[in-house]
Amino acid sequence: MSARELVVLGTASQVPTRHRNHNGYLLRWDGEGILFDPGEGTQRQMLRAGVAAHDINRICVTHFHGDHSLGLAGVIQRINLDQVPHPVTAHYPASGQHFFDRLRYSTAYRETVKLTEAPVDADGPLATTAAYTLDTHRLSHPVESYGYRLTEPDGRRILPAKLAEHGIRGPDVGRLQREGALGGVTLADVSEHRRGQRFAFIMDTRLCDGVYVLAEGCDLLVIESTFLDEDRRLAADHGHLTAAQAAAVAREAGVRHLVLTHFSQRYPDPEAFEAEARGAGYEGGLTVAEDLMRVAVPSRHP
Ligand SMILES: [Zn+2]
Repeated sequence: MSARELVVLGTASQVPTRHRNHNGYLLRWDGEGILFDPGEGTQRQMLRAGVAAHDINRICVTHFHGDHSLGLAGVIQRINLDQVPHPVTAHYPASGQHFFDRLRYSTAYRETVKLTEAPVDADGPLATTAAYTLDTHRLSHPVESYGYRLTEPDGRRILPAKLAEHGIRGPDVGRLQREGALGGVTLADVSEHRRGQRFAFIMDTRLCDGVYVLAEGCDLLVIESTFLDEDRRLAADHGHLTAAQAAAVAREAGVRHLVLTHFSQRYPDPEAFEAEARGAGYEGGLTVAEDLMRVAVPSRHP
């Protein structure tokens, strides 16, 4: 199993279909799990996908439409039922606090887990860990909607040939990394810049600045493409993207792997989304999401 991967729990916009559950996505990022937009039925999809309540450290909700949030009630109760041993943090638009309150306390249950509410009301960083910074940016939808991005800090990649050249081996390698220099050899002499990986989650929006800001330079981008371009008027009216628009964003932003999802039930053929994305000139990795798929974050730039 890849240490960084997306587990797709559901891919339907608005209503579930026979083949697609409401939205739901778990990002595994090293030891942490971030659950995005749990729609109705997410708890059961987790079971089918091999995701446990214990795997969830953080929950990010883009907006309070049912297909992105009705699953909160079940997932939060399950986290408590299973007595998850670590705290869980939830991010969601602050303007929807009343919706979050209702979902969190929709029925009686025993609270056993520390669930921290961290509502979002402005663009910018939400959290920083050793593995990533979580940022948010406002999107454009009939109800307030925020996208999310994870950015791993840049680092250094050790070059074994350079170590050998300078005669550094064994415990000295660790010492050089910790101290930055050793006997006149600097870390820069034996390593190169390593760009941090980026992931973004962009759901329910028309084209706006936030889409481009979040998508920029992503290794893996999950983005809604509710409609096909033949229905772009509908998409604009309802605050959504078409597959062509999403793919053009990915192309311009230099995205390495694009995941299209959140499909309207009006389209029976998923291949049309792939064709449209390619037609828009996007040449990177592409997944037209299906429920229960796993998509690895692409390996680092060589
Ligand atoms: Zn939606």
